[in-house]
Amino acid sequence: MDLLALLLENKLFENSLFENKIENNLCFPPTIKSSWLAEGVLQLLPRSQELPLPQELQQSQQSSSQEKTVDTLIISAGIHGNETAPVEILIQLLSQLAQGHLPLKHNLLLIFGNLPAMREGRRYIDNDLNRMFGGRYQNFPLGNESKRAMELESVIRQFFNEPAVMASTRHRHLDLHTAIRGSCHEQFALLPYQPREYAADFLQWLEDSDIDALVFHNKVGGTFSNFTSEYFNADSCTLEIGKVLPFGQNELARFSNITAALQDLIAGLFSIKREKPTLERYRVVDAIIKKHDSFQLNIPEDTKNFTELPEGFEIARQQNQSWKITSPANFILFPNAHVAIGLRAGLLLAKVT
Ligand SMILES: [Zn+2]
Repeated sequence: MDLLALLLENKLFENSLFENKIENNLCFPPTIKSSWLAEGVLQLLPRSQELPLPQELQQSQQSSSQEKTVDTLIISAGIHGNETAPVEILIQLLSQLAQGHLPLKHNLLLIFGNLPAMREGRRYIDNDLNRMFGGRYQNFPLGNESKRAMELESVIRQFFNEPAVMASTRHRHLDLHTAIRGSCHEQFALLPYQPREYAADFLQWLEDSDIDALVFHNKVGGTFSNFTSEYFNADSCTLEIGKVLPFGQNELARFSNITAALQDLIAGLFSIKREKPTLERYRVVDAIIKKHDSFQLNIPEDTKNFTELPEGFEIARQQNQSWKITSPANFILFPNAHVAIGLRAGLLLAKVT
């Protein structure tokens, strides 16, 4: 069954809303309690925690308290509609869960972010959804994305009010994306700014997942991962897993490390181990904000993410303002002169040694 086609045709959800099945003949195993919280938002709870265990099993579970802990996990994809590989990965995980090939250990929320934009193969319809969270959608005209941001925030609140989720102490959120341009580090995670410490086991999971770099934000922002970190104390990140390609053109084998790492999280396993060289770490030092029509970026359009620029180089200018490279913030991330006025046209990073 082509779950992706059903998803895009809106049939995956219509027929299954509030029923424990997808379409007609694909059901979740009895160990999983499923419910659709909104279009493209599927809540899956492990059912075993509700059933009384036989006495021998109760004893063996008590002897290993770590085994018993149920955490909460959110995995989202397609917040940008043209970023297809994450959506295909999510479909793959959904299919494995439904077929009973992937056991569900933790409370799980799967989110297909921007379905109208996915159907049209566009990043967004009206405005960038990943700038609108934390109530920032109110600053945008009412449109496809501002409505969806409002809906996703309300759905996330509903999910965290679920008794099983309230009983869990650890929350994690992986928001999967692909980048528009090439990158010196193909796969990297952006960690939202948070005043509390980053959880060591979360950073360890990112390292084990074989991604190439971590970027630590220096300020709060309107991203989905910032929202779950700031409001629900989740260990969150935006995970950039490769380059944007249309549906069907992704080589899913290129993302096997990420898929395996997500399967581990869902099933509560620790099977992955880092094979790549050391994970590089960067911190955001400055954001280049486009505030005027005169804005220009002084680097080629195809400049890769994490390109190192020389000290003193004027990377951007606009009326009454200029940005020059000052060490150690020599690295450029997400340069894009074509963003709307008021939005970020690039980030300047320093390497963390
Ligand atoms: Zn994206």
